Amino acid sequence: DNERFSPNPIEAQPTSLFARAEKRIPGGVNSPVRAFRSVGGTPFFVRSAQGATLTTEDGRELIDFVCTWGPAIHGHNHPRIRAAIADALTRGTSFGAPHAGEVELAELITKFFPSIQKVRLCSSGTEATMSAIRLARGFTGRDRIIKFSGCYHGHSDSLLIKAGSGALTHGHPDSAGIPAAFARETLVLPYNDCSALDAVFTAEPDTIAAVIIEPYCGNVGFIIPDPGYLAHLRKLTAKHGTLLIFDEVMTGFRLAPGGVQELEAITPDLSCLGKIIGGGLPVGAFGGRSDIMDALAPSGPVYQAGTLSGNPLAVAAGIAALLLLEELNPYAQLDTLGRQLRDAALAAARAKGIPLQVPQCGSMFSLFFNAEPVRDYANALKSDAALYARLFHAALARGVYLAPSAYEAGFISTAHAGEAIDRACEQISAAIHEL
Ligand code: PLP
Repeated sequence: DNERFSPNPIEAQPTSLFARAEKRIPGGVNSPVRAFRSVGGTPFFVRSAQGATLTTEDGRELIDFVCTWGPAIHGHNHPRIRAAIADALTRGTSFGAPHAGEVELAELITKFFPSIQKVRLCSSGTEATMSAIRLARGFTGRDRIIKFSGCYHGHSDSLLIKAGSGALTHGHPDSAGIPAAFARETLVLPYNDCSALDAVFTAEPDTIAAVIIEPYCGNVGFIIPDPGYLAHLRKLTAKHGTLLIFDEVMTGFRLAPGGVQELEAITPDLSCLGKIIGGGLPVGAFGGRSDIMDALAPSGPVYQAGTLSGNPLAVAAGIAALLLLEELNPYAQLDTLGRQLRDAALAAARAKGIPLQVPQCGSMFSLFFNAEPVRDYANALKSDAALYARLFHAALARGVYLAPSAYEAGFISTAHAGEAIDRACEQISAAIHEL
């Protein structure tokens, strides 16, 4: 059957990269938010990235506040990280057997996250949260979990329910293809609402395996919960034998070396990490109490594995990124940059008479066109997303790349210090003025 094996017929090539991409890649992208559906227009293609700047295939330079969705805390293509990858490359790209780098990265992670006594590496944040949920179910012998509307924990079946981020941006808070029977095991509560938590634990005191939360939420825009909320969650879960999982894939090593759990002095049972710990290469991790982690294969009955888990290049990049954070301790500097951007945007919006909220902590922020401070998913959805889309394009025309969705957090890197942040503040202010 020749036809089956013949290559696709050669046709006249469409000219633009995006037109070519749309022909062979669903929606033209390998991750939905990249498609600009929520802000309109077609995405640019990146030729290279250096420091705070992306250079597009059509030769434009953009100050980047997406930072590869979080990992690039040192800016793009940092020489120390690049050198670490190049050095690892001389020894091989994948071993499928233990190597020293895995131990070093595990030791670094556990040093900065005292709640993590043991850690397992994987290749994405999605794998980290999916595996943490399986582990929590296997350890407790319970099936149900709680998540919060607007929190995104990657795209595994149990967790892609009322998720924020791309799923929300594209108007599908619940994905097709997830069996209703799976979804029933995931209870979804409003974020930042103690009484909703109390009600569930009163009704279901001993059936919940785990509560998973983004302790500061970065996937409906950026939301910092009310004081006391996370402590209440910790108390309730401990009382009911439910494991508390902090998904710090975004916030880990970004807001403080030890993530939100360090800032808020809360000890979760399990934590999920990703993004920064891979230095821009694919890495995820989940870890926590030794007695729970020992339930993982090969020590225990909960299976979890990965051909490329602990990949030597990714681990080398991650170690370099974390050592650089330890050396520079840039968190105060990053917070100054975050405040500068927040203050500039707020001043411009005030002058223009547009209601704007800019929640910000360290190097994370978002821009909500909303008269009220945003506390949860329902509030976030009341923001003016059409106005955000106009700001996005006005800023892009002025050489500043903000997240291509009203429901994503922005990220700042150490490479933004100096000229990049000054210019970005000017251009964002001008863009707000133009709205
Ligand atoms: N958890 C959180 C909080 C995230 O923000 C993300 C991705 O943005 C994930 C999990 C999933 O990580 P990944 O995209 O690496 O699978």
